[in-house]
Amino acid sequence: MSILPAPIQNLINALERLPGIGPKSASRLAFFLLRTQDDLSDQLVNALTGLKTSTGSCKLCYNITLATQEVCEICDDERRADGTICVVEDALDILALERTGGFHGRYHVLQGVLSPIEGVGPDDLRIKPLLERVRSGEAREVILATNPSMEGDATALYLRQQILPLGVRVTRLARGLPMGGDLEYADQNTLLRALAGRQEMQ
Ligand SMILES: [Zn+2]
Repeated sequence: MSILPAPIQNLINALERLPGIGPKSASRLAFFLLRTQDDLSDQLVNALTGLKTSTGSCKLCYNITLATQEVCEICDDERRADGTICVVEDALDILALERTGGFHGRYHVLQGVLSPIEGVGPDDLRIKPLLERVRSGEAREVILATNPSMEGDATALYLRQQILPLGVRVTRLARGLPMGGDLEYADQNTLLRALAGRQEMQ
């Protein structure tokens, strides 16, 4: 039995399920919300309500977009170059790459990586739509920007096999990103260098 009243314990239990939040942080956050004078709790409630129902996936690249929009801001932007598609694991990686300001092409979000251990195969990812885009679009280069991890590398190799026969250049972000790391946590300069030094996957 908890020594805390149920409403606080419930909040702590929910917060604890967030990545990077342990029991101590969860308790601290819950007590902060309880004591703070401003309307932070209400702001949080408002932001969380409809978070999932009011957002969706871009029909072209599977980036996150408003549920009312068919395609995301980036796909909709005519100033961006159609010749290059940068393939990432997660929509968060787009944020990391956009922060570098060094990429002006299009993106494609796989929504995961190949992982035999977790039972994730090619059909579980947005690979078919990617191949369709490459086949029917104007892309001349596909940059494989999956994370520098075992799964990320395996996914890049698989994609290379699928894309090279379509007659398009396939490149991979340069090494220098920490192995096992996440694009999301790489600093801007490292990511910019990895992008500039991307290598041909023959
Ligand atoms: Zn899009």
